[in-house]
Order: sequence, then C-alpha cells, then structure tokens
Amino acid sequence: MKNEHKNILIIGGGQASAYASQEIRKHDSKSTVTIVTEEKFLPYERPPLSKNCLVDKRKYEDCLFFSEKFYDENNIEVKKNIHINNIDFNKKIITGNSNCKLSYDKLLIATGSKNRELEFENNDLKNEENILYLRNIDDSKKINLKIKECNNPVIIGCGFIGLEIAASISQFEKKVTLIEKSSQLMGRVIPEEISKLVKLKHEQEGNIFFLNSNIKKIEKENKEFVITLDFNKEIKTDLIIIGVGSIPNTSVFENSELIIENGIKVNEFCQSSIEDVFAAGDVANFYHPHYGKYMRLESYKHAQNHGIFAAKNICGLKESYVDIPWMWSDQFDLNLQLSGVCDDYDDMVSRGKDIREGIIYFFLKKNIIHGACGLAIGGKVAKNIRLASKLSEKKIKISKEILSDTSTKLNKYL
Ligand SMILES: Cc1cc2nc3c(=O)[nH]c(=O)nc-3n(C[C@H](O)[C@H](O)[C@H](O)COP(=O)(O)OP(=O)(O)OC[C@H]3O[C@@H](n4cnc5c(N)ncnc54)[C@H](O)[C@@H]3O)c2cc1C
Repeated sequence: MKNEHKNILIIGGGQASAYASQEIRKHDSKSTVTIVTEEKFLPYERPPLSKNCLVDKRKYEDCLFFSEKFYDENNIEVKKNIHINNIDFNKKIITGNSNCKLSYDKLLIATGSKNRELEFENNDLKNEENILYLRNIDDSKKINLKIKECNNPVIIGCGFIGLEIAASISQFEKKVTLIEKSSQLMGRVIPEEISKLVKLKHEQEGNIFFLNSNIKKIEKENKEFVITLDFNKEIKTDLIIIGVGSIPNTSVFENSELIIENGIKVNEFCQSSIEDVFAAGDVANFYHPHYGKYMRLESYKHAQNHGIFAAKNICGLKESYVDIPWMWSDQFDLNLQLSGVCDDYDDMVSRGKDIREGIIYFFLKKNIIHGACGLAIGGKVAKNIRLASKLSEKKIKISKEILSDTSTKLNKYL
C-alpha cells in the first residue's frame, strides 16, 4: 500500500477523522486524502462545548484540532457543508448534497453519534427555540446566549453532558432544575457513592433534582413551558435543554449490507464487514481483545486513538487496537475520571475518604483491575486512574488491601 496511490476517503469531520488523516500522512504521502463533513467548520473538540465555551472561558475558534495550514501542508482536502446521503459499497462511490460524488479505494466512516431525541406528544414543540440539544458548535453558541437570558432553566437527563451544562449555567448564578428518569446520575456505570457526591455538589450550588421522574407532558403557556412529571408535579421553565443520551450516527448506512449492531461492527483492526471499509470513534462498535467483547465508546481519547489505529490499518500496518478506555467529566471544581470497564466485575474496593484527597473505586475481576472511577476537587485522582489503566492493561494481580491503602504508591506494582 505504502507506495501506491489510493483514494482514501473519510466521512465525518470530527476527532477520529482529524487524527486519522494526520496518521495516514505519517505513513503515506502519495494517496489522496479527503475528509467530507456536513459541518461548516474544520474538525474541532467537543468537550469545551458543554464546559468552558458555555461560560465564555474559551473561544469557539480555539477548539480546532488542527489549523487550515495543517490540512494544506499535508495535502488533506476537507470538503465542508456536505452531508453524505448515499453510498454504493459495490461501486465504491459516496454521494451527498451539492452534487457531491466521490469514489474511494479505502473508506473510513467516522460519523460519530447523534443526540437521542425526546418524544413529544405535541410535535410543535420540536421547533421551539427555547428547547435545545447540544452536539455541535452552533448548538453550544445558542445555549451560551440562552443561558444568559433565562430565569428558570430545566435540564432533562442527568448524564455527563446534562450535568456539565447545569454546572456551567450555575456559573451565571442561576439555579437549574434537573429531571432524570433513573435513580442515579450518570448511569449505572458510575459507583453510586460517586454519583451521590456529584449530586450533593450540584445541590450545594443551588441546583434541584427530580430523580425517578418521567415526563408526562410538556405544554407551552405564553412564553414559558410547563413540564408535568408522572407524579403530577408541575415545573415552570423558560428554557429546556435536553441531554438524554446519544446513538451512533449510522442512518446513511442502515439499508446497506454493512453490519450495524449498536454502531458499525468492526474488528480489532477497525475493519467493518465490507472490504476496504473501516469505522472509528463514536460510530463504531469495536472488538476489544483485552475484554474479549464488542464495545462502543463515546469519549475523547478513544475517538482520537481509534482514528489513529484505523489509519494505520488503512495504510496496511496490521495493528490491533487495545487501548484501555478512559474518559473524564468536569463539573464545578470536581473532576471525574473513568478508566476501563466498571460494569463487569466480581469485587470492588475504594481508596480515599473524601473529594479533597480524592476517592477512587476499583472494580476487580479475578484480582485484576477491570475498571476504576474516581472523583476529586481538581485533578487529584488523575495519577492513580492512569496507574489503574496500566495495571489493568498488563493484567497485574493486585490485592484490595494495597488498593485501599492511601499510603501505598501504586506505581510500585507495575
Ligand atoms: C458536548 C459534548 C461534550 C463532551 N465532553 C466530553 C468529555 O468531557 N470527555 C470525553 O471523554 N468525551 C466527551 N465528549 C465525547 C467526545 O467529544 C466524542 O466521543 C468525540 O467527539 C467523538 O468523535 P468522533 O470523531 O467519533 O465523532 P464526532 O466528533 O461526533 O464527529 C462526527 C462528525 O461527522 C459528521 N457527520 C455525521 N454524519 C455525516 C454525514 N452523513 N455526512 C457528512 N458528515 C457527517 C458530524 O456532523 C460530525 O462533525 C463530549 C461530546 C459532546 C457532544
């Protein structure tokens, strides 16, 4: 592959795509590399969209992964404002709006994920300008303006993004009401104790939670909305932000022969069920040899590294992707970090007594760390979460006594 000229095409202009294009150029200077994205921007980071950009601490222009100069110098073409709506895997041709028709020899699908939408009884509410979702820069800009104007905002869904937006709104001295249908924040993969500490922090800042609460109806009354919960509690609000999860962005490929099961199914080399078609990032349900199972992740580091590994394999270097998952969330002064897999374990132990020194829960399987989740003020859990990933990657057996003892340095056991 290295010395042949090929048409390498990447659908989607996000994190996996940007890093894949950079990696391709490290191995292949001759092939044509084209990124096709429906967005009007060059690939950019999404984490600041719910955090620093919302509170004006970071400019949207500063979120690009690489500048225009990088793509020019590396001879990578980025075709913006093009939504790919059809693909012929036999002829190896993709088509999109503006008469876009492109052929490929190798294709990388990196279309990410899209917001799960809330079902409304009243369809008119779908186009309300004060009912918003967050996925891209335009959404974040709208939310940034609206949260400054609103009086009584409501967030539906207490996942990472909903909670981060709530923490950002609080910085404008506004109290946020949060509605969640399950019994705890951030889903079941987060230890209950950590979820409770995050909830407590939000409450100390004035935010109010309704857990175990389903929405019965949402009605518009003058310029406000009235949300009725299933136990007939009514909440009045002038701004609703919805964060009820994401789904893989696979709609373009649904009626094709590509195997899609909770995302595009790919092996450890990022190869899909169709020859010369690869997938990476949020859209891919990939086989992870370390855990012996398929998984789909929605996280920054994974999107980047998966894109890089897809590129290596596109360039003919057969390298399997075995990275231990890692992600983080920032809310107020709290930093939460998650490594590995925290939902499939036979034992659990905690380390640290409070968020000042940092608390970490380790999840063990046959005395090997399977996952770890930590919370602290600032980045105090970062080092031990990193060490947990390494111990897990190397499958080193470690006792609960060692893990729980804060006076023991974990790097001694690597
Ligand atoms: C608001 C927000 C905050 C986040 N915060 C964190 C965090 O704190 N920590 C963390 O670890 N992760 C976080 N994430 C997750 C992380 O940003 C994602 O996992 C990562 O962006 C996924 O990268 P990707 O390249 O797979 O997809 P994306 O970045 O979603 O890029 C996919 C791109 O493909 C485009 N596209 C889709 N379909 C088509 C089509 N048919 N034609 C053309 N283009 C198409 C999309 O418009 C998009 O630009 C956050 C995500 C969001 C939305």
